[in-house]
Amino acid sequence: MSSDAVERDTAASRRLRKLALDDEINSCRRCDGLNIDGVTASAPGYGCLTSPVVLVGQSLCEKCMETQIPFTEGSGDLIDDGIKRAGRQKENLFISNAVHCHPLKNRASHQHEIVNCSPFLHRELEIVRPRLVITLGRDAERVLRFFYPRARISALPFEAPRGRLPKGVPYIVNAKHPSWIQRQHDDALEDEYASSLAAAIRWSFGDAPEEAE
Ligand code: SF4
Repeated sequence: MSSDAVERDTAASRRLRKLALDDEINSCRRCDGLNIDGVTASAPGYGCLTSPVVLVGQSLCEKCMETQIPFTEGSGDLIDDGIKRAGRQKENLFISNAVHCHPLKNRASHQHEIVNCSPFLHRELEIVRPRLVITLGRDAERVLRFFYPRARISALPFEAPRGRLPKGVPYIVNAKHPSWIQRQHDDALEDEYASSLAAAIRWSFGDAPEEAE
């Protein structure tokens, strides 16, 4: 099989596996009170299945439940800013959550919900196989540490890893959740956050770092 054919085959296989997984997430009833249509519904991970970077948040917000796109509006504006500064669009990346459903009033997720839902996130990561995972908040951080015990892990502000990374294991960068950043009402902090996200995203795509002014 030619390399083009292998690539097409891989892309098709990723799409099929993702569709089957989306069905499982949409019909999942593992957690009491979650995945109720229009109230606590789920959204599968969103975006490009060959993205070199995956962003993982905590759980689905109410607005995201409507759009079925994690990080829609609200604190997602800060994520959008980072993506735009990296010269990319949201659909170029893959974005998911530790908990795929919307907990009412954005309450913190219960431990059993994170445990129940983490296999879905793990399967999404196995489909996308990113070079970099950016965790946004403590739940995502803990889940990713569990998935990849051999991973090199750092935090924002972004620094490219030195030397070789373990094979088949993404580099993990832990970042605060953007809603925490917004709650500080500090424009300089928001600017630093978005610019650091952009630096991480650019690195994942193999783009040159932005020149300092
Ligand atoms: S949070 Fe995850 S495991 Fe729980 S019901 Fe929703 S999709 Fe299923």
